[in-house]
Amino acid sequence: MRIAVVGGGPAGLLFAKLAKQADSTHEIDVYEQNPAHATYGFGVVLADVALNILDDVDSDLRRRISENAEFQTHITLTHKGEAIPLLGNAFMGVSRVKLLQVMQENARKEGVRLIFEKRIATPDLRGDYDLVVGADGVNSAVRTSLNEFFQATKEPRLNKWIWYGTTKRLDSVNLVFQPSPYGTFIAHAYRYAPDYGTCVIECSEASWRAAGLDKANDEESRAICETVFKDFLGGESLISNRSLWFTPEFVTSKHWHHENVVLIGDALKTVHPSIGSGTRVALQDAIALAKALRANSRDVQATFAQFERERRGGAGTFQDAAMKSILWYESVDERMHLEPVAFAYDYMMRTGRVDHERLRRQDPDFAARVESLSQDKLRA
Ligand SMILES: Cc1cc2nc3c(=O)[nH]c(=O)nc-3n(C[C@H](O)[C@H](O)[C@H](O)COP(=O)(O)OP(=O)(O)OC[C@H]3O[C@@H](n4cnc5c(N)ncnc54)[C@H](O)[C@@H]3O)c2cc1C
Repeated sequence: MRIAVVGGGPAGLLFAKLAKQADSTHEIDVYEQNPAHATYGFGVVLADVALNILDDVDSDLRRRISENAEFQTHITLTHKGEAIPLLGNAFMGVSRVKLLQVMQENARKEGVRLIFEKRIATPDLRGDYDLVVGADGVNSAVRTSLNEFFQATKEPRLNKWIWYGTTKRLDSVNLVFQPSPYGTFIAHAYRYAPDYGTCVIECSEASWRAAGLDKANDEESRAICETVFKDFLGGESLISNRSLWFTPEFVTSKHWHHENVVLIGDALKTVHPSIGSGTRVALQDAIALAKALRANSRDVQATFAQFERERRGGAGTFQDAAMKSILWYESVDERMHLEPVAFAYDYMMRTGRVDHERLRRQDPDFAARVESLSQDKLRA
């Protein structure tokens, strides 16, 4: 088969590699708009169990990603100046450029053709290929140009975000809820290289305007954020990589395929940076589509049907959790009065994926601190 993959992110690169590995007679072209070594942002963080999904399909890739990752054993949540360790979830931070380089090499070695600096504006590849995979991310041109069929919605959320790096040495995943004269600012920070961390900053649009960030240039924006987070950063700086404030968008697609075109990863549906699972979901889509293609030989429609059967449920569950998390962060001001332990508990319970029994198992000390609080202290 001739297969075109639009987008060389985690979803597109893994699908291409696995499809070629399953049938070396496939001719697979991956079109990527950026040069090979360029990317946005700094590092991404994955739950360390997220890479277990690679064990059965590409253990070598798992090993090579792990070799380039920085492991962190817990979250530290800071509220009202108190830093509370939250155990039970280990994470690995990895530079986004490194992740893509490892995945590019992995696909290339298998015989996939990687074509860089080639933006595909419309899916007019449909006639040239037997199968077209739209793996072109949240702003997918493949999805947009066929949206009459996919019927996707793209909903801008309320909070503003910016993706910075930092020289601060981070020993865990950090969540810092910082009051300021402009309103609450939140830092999501983790280590992705021995001397570097990612520091994603989030605030409401009202706080963003009050701080003058709507008019600030790159340098001013960094200076404002460094001042707001001066206690956390302890004199270390934030680093910009042409960083711009943006509003994350939440994508849901009613239909997942049309004719010989299928969407995967963020092009199909997003989760949200606040639950940090976008890369995992993208990899899961890629694995499921490659498996369906192998099982259905050259029957594209049967492949799509199997892919959708396998992924609809799991994707929906992650999207539900993501939406609960988004709403929690967007209404965080309603909880800022809570004492640190009660606030951290509310955070842990926000998506409904962790209940108190699970919390007891994964972090008995924290659960005991929660149990020692009276009910009205726990109420938001
Ligand atoms: C601020 C922020 C922080 C995040 N942090 C995390 C995190 O910590 N952990 C996590 O798991 N996820 C995180 N995510 C989400 C994660 O980056 C995505 O969910 C994941 O990368 C999706 O993979 P993908 O392959 O579907 O899409 P992408 O990674 O977006 O890849 C799409 C690729 O397609 C290319 N492309 C786009 N349009 C075209 C076109 N028309 N023609 C050719 N190429 C095109 C793009 O250049 C890109 O390389 C974060 C996202 C943001 C915005």
